[in-house]
Order: sequence, then C-alpha cells, then structure tokens
Amino acid sequence: MERVYDYDVAVMGGGSAGVAAALAASRTGAKTILVERNPYFGGEATHSQVTSYCGFYTRGEHPDQVVQGIGEEVLAGLRKYGADTAPTISKSTGNASIRFNPELVKLVLDDLMVESDVKYLLHATMIDVKKEDEKITEILCMDDEGHFTIRAKAFVDATGNGNLVHLAGIKMNWGNEQGLTQQASLAFKLDNLPRTDILMSDLEVAIKKGKEQGIVGLEKEKGLIIKIPSENYGYCTIPSKVLTGLDAETLTAAEIELRKQVNAYATAFKNNIPELSEIRVAQSGPSIGIREARRINGEVILIGEEIIKAPKSEDSIARGAWSPEIHRSNTELNYTHIPDNEYFSIPIGALKVKDVQNLWAAGRLISTDSTALGSVRVMGTGFATGQAAGVAAALTLDSEHYDVKKVQEELLKQGALI
Ligand SMILES: Cc1cc2nc3c(=O)[nH]c(=O)nc-3n(C[C@H](O)[C@H](O)[C@H](O)COP(=O)(O)OP(=O)(O)OC[C@H]3O[C@@H](n4cnc5c(N)ncnc54)[C@H](O)[C@@H]3O)c2cc1C
Repeated sequence: MERVYDYDVAVMGGGSAGVAAALAASRTGAKTILVERNPYFGGEATHSQVTSYCGFYTRGEHPDQVVQGIGEEVLAGLRKYGADTAPTISKSTGNASIRFNPELVKLVLDDLMVESDVKYLLHATMIDVKKEDEKITEILCMDDEGHFTIRAKAFVDATGNGNLVHLAGIKMNWGNEQGLTQQASLAFKLDNLPRTDILMSDLEVAIKKGKEQGIVGLEKEKGLIIKIPSENYGYCTIPSKVLTGLDAETLTAAEIELRKQVNAYATAFKNNIPELSEIRVAQSGPSIGIREARRINGEVILIGEEIIKAPKSEDSIARGAWSPEIHRSNTELNYTHIPDNEYFSIPIGALKVKDVQNLWAAGRLISTDSTALGSVRVMGTGFATGQAAGVAAALTLDSEHYDVKKVQEELLKQGALI
C-alpha cells in the first residue's frame, strides 16, 4: 500500500539545525514532520563524535551567550542529566565551547521530540525530491519496507550537505575559489585520559616525533583532544582528509584511510606523551565528519571578510559568534577572529534558497562564502539558524513572500536571540 504523509512543513535531517527547525515550525503552529536517516538525532554531534558545542558564546575572557531558544533548551536538557554546560575556554585557542557526552545528547533530543507535536522518523532516508515550477512539492523517502512520499507546503533542508536542494536539481556551491573544501575528519574516542587537557602544541610535537619514528598514517599535525569535563575520556578529531565529492566510492575510501590514521595517532600519542601512555581507542566514527560540503545560493550571502567586523542587520534572525575556523592544511589551523564579546547578524536572506518559493536552509549549508561557512557551520549557530528556518517555513505556508518582522516576533516569543 502506498504510504503518503501530508504535512505543512517537512524538515529533512535531524542534526542540531533540523531538530531546532522542526520544533520551531511545530511551535509556530505548523503540522511538521522530521526525517532522519540515522537511528538517533544529533547529526555530527552523535554520529561523528563532534562533542563540543561551539557558537553559543562570544570569544573573550568573559564570554556572552548569543544563542538561546531551542539551543538553550538542549543545554538545559543536558544539565537535567547531570552534565556541566558551563563553557570551557580552550588554553590552546582561547575559544569558549561546551563539551558534552554524545550519549546524553541522544537522550535530550529524544526527550524534546517526544514532548513535541512533531512527527519524527528515524531510519528514514530522503532519496528524491520533486520540484514543479518554483516550488518543492514532494519528497520521496525510503526505509527497509520500501518507499514513502512526504507532501508539504514548505520544506527545510537541514541535511548538513544540502542533499534536499541538490536532489531538487538546484545549483549549489562547493568549496573555496579553487573548489577545495575544508578537511573532513574521523573523530575517535579515547579512554584513560589524564584529568587536564593536553595542549595542542604537545600533540603536535608527539605527531612530529611519530613521523620520525616511522609511524605510517600521520598526516595532519594540528588539532585537539576534546576532554569531557570531570570524565577520563575525550575525543580527538585530527585524522583528516579533503573530500572531492560525497559519492559512496569517495566516502568508502576515506573511511578506510582515516581508520588507519586513527590507529597511527593513538600510537604516536601513547609513545610520545607520558600522560597518554595508558590511552585506549574506545570508538571511531561512526561516520566521517564533514566540515564543508555544498552551500546554497541564498538571497543574501555571508562573506568571511565582512562577518569578522561583527556587522548587525535589521533582517537578523540569529547571531553568529564563532571566529571562522579553517582546516585546509596539515600544518596550520587558521582562525580569523571576531572581536572579543562581539557577534554578527545572520540575515533571513541567508536561509532562503534563491528562486524557490517554499524552500529554506538551516545549519552548515546556509548561504555563505567558504570562509564564513567556517563560522556558521558550528552547532550552536546551527540551532539558531534551524530555529529561524523552522519559524520562517511555518509562517510562509500559503504565501510566496516572507515577512521578516513576523519571523523575528515569533523567534523572540520562542526565546531566541536575533
Ligand atoms: C571534525 C569536525 C569537528 C567539528 N568541530 C566542531 C566543534 O567543536 N563544535 C561545533 O559546534 N561544531 C563543530 N563542527 C561542525 C559541526 O559538527 C557541523 O557543521 C554541524 O553538525 C552541522 O549541523 P547540521 O545540523 O547543519 O548538520 P549535521 O549535524 O550534519 O546533521 C545533518 C543530518 O541530516 C541527516 N541527513 C542527511 N541526508 C539525509 C537524507 N538524505 N535523509 C535523511 N537524513 C539525512 C544526517 O544523517 C544528519 O543527521 C565540526 C565538524 C567536524 C567534521
């Protein structure tokens, strides 16, 4: 029997941005469905062991919180499970982030979904998109029973990689002016860590020594181990590679190469840092984490050189505060810093897919250049752009045009900062 779901708003992807988009659309009054191909929500936070929320706070000695709303509800949920969500200021980079146990994120996002009116589907993969004239009309999904169709009035692409927009045949952007993306990384969990953080500079020395010792698979020299507060485990995101596409062949080769790198880095740390002599790799992946893939062409494009001056806009629907962080080279990790205690506005036009009436973007695929993507891709900002895209989609069900003032009013009502 044909399975058809009829909804007002359909959100594809249940990462940070998608969960926020679905909750926000539903709270705005739209009948909302959320589709996620993994067996849990969270996206890279849970599926790629990216275990620190960046973008919630400004930089500086006394950071200010710039993301509230649904993002803050996630933090409150973590605290309910006993987690400490106070920001940690990295001794290596000076940036403020919130470190977490991904198992708790799974529980918190489940709670938020179960308590909501959203219809949510895990183990469901979007495989095709129908576009007629200037509108998306339906989405084809699959699970292990076969195909099903989702019809909706408005759609949000929160797939991280822009899979909805891409499947609709809409032209997207990839990488910098040379067509190069930031490195993708396979994170791995380490047990038996010491109580205090290991400095990035100490890791770098250990990696260089490892290379001299002939350990094969050590490529990138700069990166961190994110230790979870008060725990003896943490996550290392150094094994890295630049991806040239998102096809299964490319990703298969990358996963296998990076699993070898995981083993090489663990060996180099164990051999060359006395405090790490007892470490054990507890888990890699599950999936390679992608920092940069496709970006939409929006009505507004955020430019790296401009956002670092912390501009404010009347059309703002969210705040970005993470300094553009660029991982392209094996020997350098570049930040261009936004001034301390400052943030930039994200205007609504950066979420609106150009020339398609009912399609919004949220999370790391919003409309930016490659440098600004190095800022907006972080998960704190993803919750904020997700909440905004969900509200905007819910308020434009029967109209070709959006009213930014109405979107802003609803976001403020929902506790977001704009
Ligand atoms: C190594 C690494 C380190 C990073 N470090 C940090 C950090 O310290 N702090 C930070 O805040 N950010 C960090 N980031 C960035 C951040 O993790 C991502 O940019 C962020 O997760 C983007 O959120 P999102 O919701 O847009 O996408 P994602 O988290 O990627 O979620 C997208 C979701 O869509 C789903 N999906 C995709 N296609 C389909 C489909 N066809 N059908 C159904 N579901 C689909 C996916 O399964 C996924 O769950 C890092 C990224 C990497 C790779």
